[in-house]
This record gives sequence, structure tokens and C-alpha cells, in this order.
Amino acid sequence: MGKSSLPFERLRKKMVERLEAEGIIRNSRIKEAMLTVPRHLFVPDISEDIAYEDMPIHIGGGQTISAPHMVALMSEALDIKAEHRVLEVGSGSGYHACIIGCVANKGEVYSVERLASLAEIARKNIEIVGLCRNVKIIIGDGSEGYTEAAPYDRICVTAGAPTVPQVLKEQMKTGGKLLIPVGSRDVQELLRITKTGKDRYIKENLGGCVFVPLIGENAWH
Ligand code: SAM
Repeated sequence: MGKSSLPFERLRKKMVERLEAEGIIRNSRIKEAMLTVPRHLFVPDISEDIAYEDMPIHIGGGQTISAPHMVALMSEALDIKAEHRVLEVGSGSGYHACIIGCVANKGEVYSVERLASLAEIARKNIEIVGLCRNVKIIIGDGSEGYTEAAPYDRICVTAGAPTVPQVLKEQMKTGGKLLIPVGSRDVQELLRITKTGKDRYIKENLGGCVFVPLIGENAWH
């Protein structure tokens, strides 16, 4: 029997086992979310059979859904608690927002997408999956954050920026964490910024990564 003919649930379990064996998934809540959220419903129909491969997949508009290991790694690095208020910048397919929504299941997730067509797809995907009613998709420029629901416990940027937008740092609560790829348009370093007080931050470099560019007022033009 070919790999693609295995039921999706089995493929999803294998994906999670692989990520656990690689030491990427460690938190049981993230494991549960990645076991539950049907990733194949967040990719275009023609890519369903590769939905559980560890690779980014094109979702239209020149954009991609990040590889499962990157979604798991970012979710782990943010240390999201059930009651957290989270901002995601770059909704894409809505998959990562849905994972965050399941982990922060007593909190709120605001996900900003600059492309209206993708925001609509993300909204529909999340509605069809029906697992996270706490996720709100907003059309806008996430390089400006989303002041309406600030401040946030966690901010997750899923596109690469030239620098860390000051406004995102300001929209964090004290004790909050911001994860953002920063570098050139082609390759970045994944930075974790922790807010320790007013205008006080600790910056950590979690390693190299490749994301599509963050395009906006406080990012690439
Ligand atoms: N998290 C997504 C998922 O689960 O499918 C994948 C995100 S994709 C790697 C990056 C997304 O960021 C794209 O959909 C792109 O349109 C979006 N983006 C780029 N610049 C943006 C901005 N300034 N504000 C909001 N979204 C932006």
C-alpha cells in the first residue's frame, strides 16, 4: 500500500511521532494539537497526499503553509499557555493559527493576513475544521501588529522581516514573548524576544530559517 493511500489520521500520527523522535515536539499540549488538527484540510486539494510530509506547501498567492517541524518548533519556543492571548502575523492557510488556538484553548488568538484572498481561505478552513472558535482572522498589515486586542502574551510572526518592528515589541505584555524570523528576503534567523520590563528585552537566536517576506509598513516594501 502506498504512503498516500494511508488514512490521514495514520499519516498525522506518523508525522507527530517523527517530530517527537527528533526532539521537536516536547510539550503534550502541542502534541495533542498536532495530532488533532487535520492538516490536509488546510492545503489545496491537489496537495492533500503530501500534507503530512515535513515540507512547506504552496497555498496560492505565492505563499506557503510552513513545514510541520517549523510549526511545532515555533509553538514550542513560544511556551503558549491555555489562557494566553496570542497574535499571529501571517495567517496563510490558517493551520498554525488553529494549532495555537487549540493550545491556547481558554485564551484568544488574533491572526492578521495581508492578502484578503488568503484570509478568506484561512477563515473558511478554520470554520470547516471547527476545532477553535477562539481564533479570529483579520485582514491587515501585521507588521503594525493589531492594536485593537493588544497587549499580547505571545506574538508569532510567520514571515521574514528585515528588522524587529518596534510596534510588535510594544504590543507585548511584560513577560511576553515574540518570535520572528529576521534577516534578508531569502534567509533569516529565528529570534525570540522576551519582554522583561518597560523597554527591556532579552533577545535569543534560535537558528537559521527560510520564510516568505513580511511585506508592510514596518517590514519589506
Ligand atoms: N502561518 C501560515 C499557515 O499556517 O499557513 C503560513 C504563513 S506564510 C509562511 C506567511 C504569510 O504571511 C503569507 O500568507 C503572507 O501573505 C503573510 N504576510 C506577509 N506579510 C504580511 C503582513 N505584513 N501582514 C500580515 N501577513 C503578512
